[in-house]
Amino acid sequence: MPARKLDGVATAAAIRAELVPKVEAFTARAGRPPSLHILLVGDDPGSQVYVRNKERAGREAGLDVVIHRLPASAAAGEVMSEVRALNEDDGCDGILVQSPLPHTLGKKVEQLVFDLISPAKDVDCFHPENVGRLAQGRAILGPCTPSGVIELLVREQIQTVGKLAVVLGRSEIVGKPMALLLLQRDATVTICHSKTKDLAATAKEADILVAAIGRPGFVTPEFVKPGAVVIDVGINPLPDRDQVVGLFGEASPRVAAFDAKKPVITGDVHPAVAEIAGALTPVPGGVGPLTIAMLLKNTLTAAETRRG
Ligand code: NAP
Repeated sequence: MPARKLDGVATAAAIRAELVPKVEAFTARAGRPPSLHILLVGDDPGSQVYVRNKERAGREAGLDVVIHRLPASAAAGEVMSEVRALNEDDGCDGILVQSPLPHTLGKKVEQLVFDLISPAKDVDCFHPENVGRLAQGRAILGPCTPSGVIELLVREQIQTVGKLAVVLGRSEIVGKPMALLLLQRDATVTICHSKTKDLAATAKEADILVAAIGRPGFVTPEFVKPGAVVIDVGINPLPDRDQVVGLFGEASPRVAAFDAKKPVITGDVHPAVAEIAGALTPVPGGVGPLTIAMLLKNTLTAAETRRG
């Protein structure tokens, strides 16, 4: 029987709708809306789309969203000056530096930039202080993607207590914080990564399987216990027609979309898993919209916390 679809679009819309009156109340109290400042360095096409989506969703929820652009050639010092100015700007509640920064800046600078963001305005929850609070179970600003997954599980009435959860991926942005949040919800958690032995066998034990590795269609039915809840965090562009056909079949609308030169994305979970899982998030339309909704929620929380 095909898996129940866990609709991230509808859940994200519900979260955003709940935010609107709270944003209005804050605006009435503070005399201005909560404000989210996004720093976009360079012209990476994917980042442009992500930033546009965040901007649109934020404005629809009543937030003030300001985009700060720097060219790909910007020096590390310029990027840091921009962050320092936003830290000091009392009218700025949330700061998001769109990742990745241009490769020319290097990973070390990226880390320095994220570390520079004031923890009170760190709506992505990357700052070590916020990560520490998260690890201790007293986060004020939570990590957007994993928090979105938890919201989805709660609203879909999927129990975590006593369940075996397996997280595929151990990144700072998804895998590790996802595991922490599941642990805080009383799941028994296993984290897998590229050095894990018998990945499929470990994954197959999971009642709740979260895939966040960035490999299109990697999680095949061999990884999934029948009836398991499968959360597909992956967002993978498919640049190759054969790949699209291989995953979805020649008759799929995704192949038609590819032929019409539209971007085609897929998750880390193979489409055949829908036949075996109990519930499954689609890609697109699963975790992605929830990430944006949680970013808006964090911006409101940051604004309210800063105003006391
Ligand atoms: P990442 O930083 O590249 O981390 C990938 C993780 O997967 C690493 O821990 C890596 O292991 C592991 N991994 C890679 N290949 C593996 C394999 N063959 N077997 C087992 N583990 C493997 O990626 P990320 O930032 O976490 O993102 C993961 C995916 O989620 C991407 O597709 C990304 O686009 C998507 N994403 C989606 C959202 C959303 O809103 N839906 C948000 C963020 C990210 P090692 O640590 O051993 O290298």
